[in-house]
Amino acid sequence: MKLPFDLKDIKPGSFSYFTKRKLQNRTGEETGEIFLWKKKDEEESSYMLKCPFCSEEQQGKVLLVRRPYRVKCSKCKKSITLPKLVDQAKREAKKEMKG
Ligand SMILES: [Zn+2]
Repeated sequence: MKLPFDLKDIKPGSFSYFTKRKLQNRTGEETGEIFLWKKKDEEESSYMLKCPFCSEEQQGKVLLVRRPYRVKCSKCKKSITLPKLVDQAKREAKKEMKG
């Protein structure tokens, strides 16, 4: 996926956050991906998503209020839960240890 802006053009402090995460389908394969960001002067977060279930690429805006954060695929209507960064880091560490 290609972002609608260049990360290098972003001024420090203009975003509340920016995150990029791999998304797993039901069998645990990483078939999807999400970019999620929020500008400081905006209420809603913006995202670009490749659905892990149907592979549809889409973008939209979502108001993230309560954890766990979720976005919904516009095509297959499945709800996609965003893994917390900590959890994902832990899982990946585990995977590496198993070899
Ligand atoms: Zn989908």
